[in-house]
Amino acid sequence: MSVGPKILDGILIAAEIKAEVGVEVRELAAQGIIPGLAVILVGHVPASEIYVRSKVKTCGELGIYSEMLTPPETITTEQMLSLVEGLNARDDIDGILIQLPLPKHVDTRRLLEAVMPNKDVDGFHPLNAGRLLSGQPGLAPCTPAGIMQILRRSEISVVGKNAVVVGRSDIVGKPTAVMLLNTSATVTVCHHLTKNLPRYTREADLLVVAIGQPGFITADMVKPGATLIDVGINRITDAARVEELFPGDAARAATFAKRGSVVVGDFHPSAFAISGAYTPVPGGVGALTIAMLMANTVMAAKLRRGLETGPLVAAMVG
Ligand code: NDP
Repeated sequence: MSVGPKILDGILIAAEIKAEVGVEVRELAAQGIIPGLAVILVGHVPASEIYVRSKVKTCGELGIYSEMLTPPETITTEQMLSLVEGLNARDDIDGILIQLPLPKHVDTRRLLEAVMPNKDVDGFHPLNAGRLLSGQPGLAPCTPAGIMQILRRSEISVVGKNAVVVGRSDIVGKPTAVMLLNTSATVTVCHHLTKNLPRYTREADLLVVAIGQPGFITADMVKPGATLIDVGINRITDAARVEELFPGDAARAATFAKRGSVVVGDFHPSAFAISGAYTPVPGGVGALTIAMLMANTVMAAKLRRGLETGPLVAAMVG
């Protein structure tokens, strides 16, 4: 009897983590501490508004205080810096998140560096990036931390395995590669100038792809039985492309008919079919990102007060 690939259910794993974070929040509340998250959302970017709304909603569900700051598109870097400084100084705010992307005239790097490292729940501050690189526990980027949780909780060991990460962004690709290296995988990082990409991807026991190219990684680029982690979130609005990617998939067709678009990852469905395990899109890595943000906020609340942090901290390093 042949066994098909295992679906790594991000929604289930995220629910598990949120439940654990909820317990920590209640323990803190018993000591009179309510973790607080401030989210800065500049202007009107519909996709960002959706993300921020779900972050705020999840805070509410878990008993984390949240505050949304919505300065106009015209805000200057200096004005943003003083917003961040105000939040740095507040005792009721444990985490500060600046929703990206920011308008072009705002200096994103300066702002990310202005966030106090111990309130940097996105893990983007150079100090936290350096801590991650040197394998110290701390606040690490949420999506890569979520990927590590998926692997760990699905009992997929990466020790000594060939792990290939396609994409080298500061937000996903690079920190994921570092976490995998910290966990003793043999890591290769590829990007858009990599020559003969399939040569690398075909060697991967674990293939993590974060490039933002719908259906790009096809079955012929994948080692049969490999674990595939699809970080891509791509919205497709072309009916012919949906049919080409998912022929005869009634559920996707219904979603497309209802919404005029479907979300797909960076893997082609044909690659999933020959894998050992894979994260679906939607319902895979994306589900973990907010759960890890909640975990980071609670960790920041504890770290700032010198309280002992939970087991999730160690897991974030890799
Ligand atoms: P970026 O655009 O910052 O980085 C994309 C990376 O992919 C770059 O390193 C680029 O290479 C590489 N790349 C692009 N095209 C190719 C190609 N054809 N072959 C090889 N490498 C390529 O994107 P992000 O890292 O921010 O996001 C990647 C994807 O993940 C997006 O779809 C995004 O929506 C999604 N995402 C999902 C999250 C989640 O919660 N699931 C969270 C964050 C992102 P180079 O550096 O050489 O240009």
